[in-house]
Amino acid sequence: MKIQDIRATTVSVPLEAPLRHANGCHWGRFVRTIVEVETDNGLVGLGEMGGGGESAEAAFRGLRSYLVGRDPARLEELHFLISNPTASLYNNRTQIVAALEFACLDILGQAWGVPVSEILGGRLRERVPFASYLFFRYPNPADGRGEVRTAEQLIACVQELKKRCGFTSHKLKGGVFPPGYELECYRALARALPGDRLRFDPNAVWSTEQAVEFGRAIEDLNNDYLEDPVFGLNGMRRTREKLRIALATNTVVVNFEQLAANILQPAVDVILLDTTFWGGIRPCVKAAGVCETFQLGVAVHSSGELGIQLATMLHLGAVIPNLTFAADAHYHHLTDDIISGGRMRYEGGSIAVPSGPGLGVTLDRSKLAQYTEEFKRLGPYPYDQDPLRPGWTPTIPNTRWADPEDGRIPNISF
Ligand SMILES: [Mg+2]
Repeated sequence: MKIQDIRATTVSVPLEAPLRHANGCHWGRFVRTIVEVETDNGLVGLGEMGGGGESAEAAFRGLRSYLVGRDPARLEELHFLISNPTASLYNNRTQIVAALEFACLDILGQAWGVPVSEILGGRLRERVPFASYLFFRYPNPADGRGEVRTAEQLIACVQELKKRCGFTSHKLKGGVFPPGYELECYRALARALPGDRLRFDPNAVWSTEQAVEFGRAIEDLNNDYLEDPVFGLNGMRRTREKLRIALATNTVVVNFEQLAANILQPAVDVILLDTTFWGGIRPCVKAAGVCETFQLGVAVHSSGELGIQLATMLHLGAVIPNLTFAADAHYHHLTDDIISGGRMRYEGGSIAVPSGPGLGVTLDRSKLAQYTEEFKRLGPYPYDQDPLRPGWTPTIPNTRWADPEDGRIPNISF
């Protein structure tokens, strides 16, 4: 079996409302590049990649000459071919090789008649539990609905999500407003959700002193962990020395060198494995094995996904024995998907691991065409800019917070 062709298609799929984060905003949509790898025996494997609101089509077109004629089963070789660790100093392709790995695993699963989870060692669970991923949100520019800015709106949002999806773990994305304001919101959330688990993630925009102050003020809550309160292993280490809650990261331990550094000089307790940031599902499984050996926690990270990437997260979550935390996904903020059968469904806070061959998802061609047109209509968006704060630069640490009294609706294409 040989790779015969590779296609990349950029889509724009709407979110319920723009999602605000420490570095800017998802401007009311996810822009994702869907990758199709076709083999000479007629199989098509699916991959997916983000790109900070930009299309990644050109990157995949540029790799066509590397891939055509290659065996999709030689995954370890593919990794070195596309993303050799020293060559990658010149062309960082980690996320690109991830999308190609997804597609090749999908092909192998189809060729062998098994789900990807069975190639990865076999599933230990049929469903993967998820946390509600709560964002401060701008109102939807089309109908003015969906705003999350106040503690009351946050609680209304989580109660609706809990009813709709059954979540019992909740993650609040912060780093948007002053830390004291976000602390009030987080504590209000805890009061509204007795018995549920919580986690908070300000995307590393605090100083160490702010992180320690915030961390101490939430030590009495049911925290899974405090995620990336500061940037860098040294800042995390200083923060961790002064707190009695676990710290997690999806930012400063995203490869094996950093994982080794964190084991030799511990700075982080829980490693959030992202199938994209780590270069594929297989590196995440390997990293989970290292974490198991050293008794570090792991969870499944979300970098924003449609159904193809969600499937990679589900197959990962199904096979790692040390998954003791609910996974993260942005998925419930989407209004639609490009996979056949529509969006995957949450039940009791979890999603079923696909059982069909390969990743177990297929493209809905009419949806793909519809959301390709949407990308042509709306274009890319700057993920690291805030539509209502032109000229603002997201620094780390940050001191220029958004104003929680500002209830304006951004004037952005939707
Ligand atoms: Mg994070």
